[in-house]
Order: sequence, then C-alpha cells, then structure tokens
Amino acid sequence: MSVSDWDSPLHPLAQALDVPAGKARTRHMAIEASVIPELLRLPLELYAGRQAKPCVTVGQRVRRGEIVARGPDAYDAAIHAATSGRIRGVADTPLPCIELEADGDDATVDPEPLSDWRGHSRPELLTQLAESGLMGLGGAGFPSAAKLEAAASIDLLIINAAECEPLLTADERLLTERASEVMDGITILAYLTSARRVVIAIEDDKPEAIEAVRVALREHPFSLAVIPRGYPSGSERQLVQILTGRQIPSGRLPVDLGMLCHNVASAWAMGRAVIHGEALTERIVTVTGAALLRPGNLSVRIGTPVADLLAARGMNDTLLAGIRLGGPLTGRPVTDRRLPMGKTHGGLLAAGAEELTPAGVELPCIRCGACAEVCPASLLPQELHRQTRAADLDALAELNLVDCIECGACAWVCPSRIPLVNDYRLGKSALAAEAARQAAAEQARTRHERRQNRLEQERRASEAAREARLSRVDAALARAKAAKQNREQES
Ligand code: SF4
Ligand code: SF4
Repeated sequence: MSVSDWDSPLHPLAQALDVPAGKARTRHMAIEASVIPELLRLPLELYAGRQAKPCVTVGQRVRRGEIVARGPDAYDAAIHAATSGRIRGVADTPLPCIELEADGDDATVDPEPLSDWRGHSRPELLTQLAESGLMGLGGAGFPSAAKLEAAASIDLLIINAAECEPLLTADERLLTERASEVMDGITILAYLTSARRVVIAIEDDKPEAIEAVRVALREHPFSLAVIPRGYPSGSERQLVQILTGRQIPSGRLPVDLGMLCHNVASAWAMGRAVIHGEALTERIVTVTGAALLRPGNLSVRIGTPVADLLAARGMNDTLLAGIRLGGPLTGRPVTDRRLPMGKTHGGLLAAGAEELTPAGVELPCIRCGACAEVCPASLLPQELHRQTRAADLDALAELNLVDCIECGACAWVCPSRIPLVNDYRLGKSALAAEAARQAAAEQARTRHERRQNRLEQERRASEAAREARLSRVDAALARAKAAKQNREQES
C-alpha cells in the first residue's frame, strides 16, 4: 500500500500563538526506563471525580499487571499494580490511592493477548480495553472503551500527534521509536469505529517522527497531515478545525459530527493491550526543566511519586521556580511531591523562573484585551477572570467557561501576569460543585415527591379499605335488621 497524505485543505488557526517550543533539550533523547520507587501510589481517581474501588486487601502480594481496583461501570478503566510487591493500604494523601510497597522483583502476570483479535466481538474487544486499564492519555482521561462504545461507525478518525505544548517531546519520541506499534493500535481503533478515513496529524517541527510515520505508513492505508506549528493546534477542537474546517459547537463532541480524536499515546497503548495483552502500568513522560540535571523521555510506572522521579533525574532545588504536572502552559502546579504520576500525565516540569507562565508578580487587569485576541475558543478571558474572582457562577455559565480548553494562551500574553488558567480551573470546580449540589437537591426533591405520592396512595388505599369495611358492616346490620323484622312478622 502507498503512503497517502491528507488531501483536504488545512485551515490554520486564526489565533495560533507562536510560543517558543523549547523542545531541543529532550527531542533527541531516546526513551529510557525510569526508576521503580520503593513505594508506589496507584491513583484511584477515574474520570469526572469518580473513584475506583479497591479489590485487594492490606498485606496482599501482587504482581505487575494485577487488577487492584475497579470502577463502578463495566467500561471503566481498571487500575493495576505497576510492579510486584505488597499492598500497604489505601491512603488519602495527597489524593485517594492504593499504596504498594515494591519488592524489587518486578514480577509480572502472564499476559493474555488477543492475537487473533479480529475474531473477537466488539464487546469482547472493548472489555479487553477496560480490563487493561485504558483511558485517554492525552489529558482528558475518559475511559477508552466507553468512548469507543459511543463511536461504532464514524467518518473520520483523527490520531492526535500534534504535541504543541512547549518542552514536551514524549509523543514525538514514541512515534520516532515505535511508529509500527502505534500503527497496530490505530488499526484496532479504525476497526472498532469502522472509520471510513484515518488521519495522523503532527506538527511540522518534528521531522524525525514524520519520517518514521511515513515509513510505517507503507504498510497501512492511513493519511498523514503535517500541520503548521502553532499553539494550541493539539487541542481537540482546534485540530478538528485545522483538518476539516468544521467547528464543534459548544456543548457538542467530535463524535456528534461523525469524528473521533484519539491521542497517539492512547493508540500505542491500545495495540499493547489487545495484541500483547499488557495492562497499562507505565507511560512515556517527558521529565524536563531548568532545575533538572538529567532531563529525558522516560517510561514511567504509574504511581511513581513526583519526588522519586525528580530525585532520580538530578533535581536542583536552588534553581526551582515551580513544579508542573504537564507542560509550562497547561500543566498543573504541584505543591505536594508525594503526588503520583497518573495515566494522563505526559510531562513533568521542574521549571526555572523563565519557564513558567505567567512569571513575575501579578498586577491588576488593565483591560488591554490581549487575552481575548488570542483565545482559540473565542471567549472573553478578562471577563471570566473578573467573574471568577467575584464568584458569580451565573455569569461564568453565561460566559461559557465550560468551553475553556485551559490552553493558557491568555495567561501567556497577559501583561499583568495574572494566573488566568488557575482562575478558570477554580471557576470550573465551583460550577461543577454547584451542578452537583443542584443534582443532589433535584434528587432529594424527586425522592420527597415519590414518598409523598406513595403516602397519598397508601392513605387512599386505607381509606378505601375502611369504607369497604364500613359498607360490609352496614350490609350485615341491614341483613340482621331485615331478618329480625321477618322473624317478628312470622311470630
Ligand atoms: S491580557 Fe491580562 S491585563 Fe489584558 S485584559 Fe486580559 S487579563 Fe486584563
Ligand atoms: S480562556 Fe481558556 S481557552 Fe481561552 S485562551 Fe484562556 S485558557 Fe485558552
């Protein structure tokens, strides 16, 4: 088969930012195995604040790949031991997790591959993905099996390898070194979604990875779209727009338009799960930043505490301005180094002052409008900032805060160095909490109404029974009276 390039016109983003990519530090560093810590914290968090329930006991010995917790739904991603050892218990610090003491053997369960996977039904394959612990590795963390269940027949499957976040090179190295394994995963994805077209999208500043994909595509009927570098081209909505010119309306998903986006690391993990029967117990992470002596692209065990990972790469605290889970623009600040690396974390940044956004002291908003000019979601960042600080949830809902993709472009250009994305995350949490409170109140109201209806029905039934009883008594009295009269007449 021949390599076919994407034949539709590209629609570059009007608001693309030219942020320095800064990827040279790790771009050419081959993937290395990372340290296995003495204590792993396996996060129990699932998608949207739900939690998996442990299915192991304290003191139990487990091997790598053994399921230690499951979610409430059939297609939730299972949680696995990421090395062999002994279950110490469940802890809440710094987030709910199972603590696993490594025994140093790194013994693994026997894999259960579906080498003849095309002979299995769709539900069987989806179950294999859920049991293997697959979720979106690009950041969203939605369970892969549930996402695919809702996409049985699509027009376009987009494999997102844009990796536009500055400093991160994990996806780039994955494609450079393991393009053929990525193609295995994409083949399974295309099969499960009956996709009529498949395109792999990658930014044009990654020549080695592009070449590796071109070579691998000789064996596969997929397209390659080399898109212009520009931030945030790797965001799902922006990528759909670049490739198809179509905009996903607010509150809708790509699947509503017959499309599905899947991160390239997720595609790779899918091939490993189905063809090799491997559970998701590690992922590739770019560990970088000016405060690290030995940055690199590492294969990191899920549950490795941030502290262990940084220490193993030569952390210099005197150079440190801040730690981010993720890259400099979208990464989340880390304040507790016990925090474990999870399945959605493709980067860990031990940043020097010049690598953080925004750097410097926060000043008041001068209403310059620069943030609105760069917002790829066409929002009003300065208004969102004002209303978040005013805790006006109605205004935040009206301003469509939910459409914010947390790309950090607004904070990047803000001359007042306002940590805008932090504000939006707080605002979103407040909106989610309010929605949960309203849902709980609605549930309570429904329960109360049901109870009132039941009591009313019971009252009516009891009333009807009482009336029936009284009627029967009246009838008996009438019969007795009539009998007495008959007897008196006869005598
Ligand atoms: S860029 Fe910063 S200072 Fe300018 S309007 Fe936006 S929030 Fe205000
Ligand atoms: S408001 Fe949200 S989507 Fe818009 S630039 Fe800021 S972080 Fe990005």
